[in-house]
Amino acid sequence: MSEIRMVDLVGQYQEIKEELREAFDSILDNASFINGSEVKDFAKEFEEYLGVKHVIPCANGTDALQIALMALNLAPGSEVICPSFTFVATAEVISLLGLKPVFVDVNPDTFNLDLESVEASISRDTKVIIPVHLYGLPVDMEPLLQLAKEKGLKIVEDTAQGIGADIQIDGSYRKVGTIGDIGCTSFFPSKNLGAYGDGGAIMTNDDQLADKMRKIVNHGMEKRYYHELVGVNSRLDTLQAAVLRIKLRKLDTYNSNRNSAAEFYTEAFSQVEELICPTIPSDRKHVFHQYTLRVKNGKRDALKQYMDDLGIPAMVYYPVPLHEQQPYRRERISPHGLPVTRTLKDEVISLPMHTELTASHLNEITQAVIKFFN
Ligand SMILES: *Cc1c(COP(=O)(O)O)cnc(C)c1O
Repeated sequence: MSEIRMVDLVGQYQEIKEELREAFDSILDNASFINGSEVKDFAKEFEEYLGVKHVIPCANGTDALQIALMALNLAPGSEVICPSFTFVATAEVISLLGLKPVFVDVNPDTFNLDLESVEASISRDTKVIIPVHLYGLPVDMEPLLQLAKEKGLKIVEDTAQGIGADIQIDGSYRKVGTIGDIGCTSFFPSKNLGAYGDGGAIMTNDDQLADKMRKIVNHGMEKRYYHELVGVNSRLDTLQAAVLRIKLRKLDTYNSNRNSAAEFYTEAFSQVEELICPTIPSDRKHVFHQYTLRVKNGKRDALKQYMDDLGIPAMVYYPVPLHEQQPYRRERISPHGLPVTRTLKDEVISLPMHTELTASHLNEITQAVIKFFN
């Protein structure tokens, strides 16, 4: 049996090898490494896939978040609400731009932003909310949109883990990343739509924001060497765009493979009382960037050790919430505190999740976990 990996990009590569080689050859023959035609083609195809007016490719997901916040013209010290239970990039860009992150709690069932915690944390200085579609499950966007509208706040979605997932808004399904004012995603190799290096994209339906962000990614210019605003250099390489074009056509299949693996896990663990499996509310589709269990009775670390000893990979995303990390300890948190976040960091464990998991992999992983609890 092949080795069990947390993420298996080698197996996935085998299937698209020929197509990739052909695409790479043509780019190499033309030496069109920067802004080659594949970049525009990918952006257009991604717009169609997502059902969004504008996709602006950039260098990585962290840049995407930074550029989104740069485009919103926020006064220094403005507050940006985000979960503490997320990857550091979400908060990093806030601080980097002289803004203030305000950390809120998450819902114990969805691992996503808790609406009441958000509401309680809004102050006069709050300008933006960043919902993170953590592990690939869409945030409950409708009440959040309503709240943002009432309070005059912008919504920047962090879709780095949720690409391809959708949720019903007003009765029809919309892809995450296209629902707020701006959406941001990452094409880091292990993400659901991953390049073979770094990459990212910004999504919006707003023409003016799109226009501004297209300038920001390109040193603040439209006409060459005439700079209208302070920008950055953030581009998606042509070679990466070529990879993404090929993989975009398979994204729905990839995500459905992930869902099949998740179903297998959940079925297998239904009898294990000390495990809480991920829930999927009926109005949305999960893309399982991670399959994350909650382990009750303080047994998470022992389970992790048991898996490590067997050589079966398992990971904790994330062991230290952001409000407890050195650079963020002094930042404001929800006045209700972050009790769920504090509990989850000790309970969560993510199992191997990728597009190449076989029945025998899944059997071996689930048998090991079940055996631990017996
Ligand atoms: C991966 C990730 C990012 C950052 O993406 P990079 O391309 O690595 O910069 C941001 N937010 C979340 C939630 C992520 O998982």
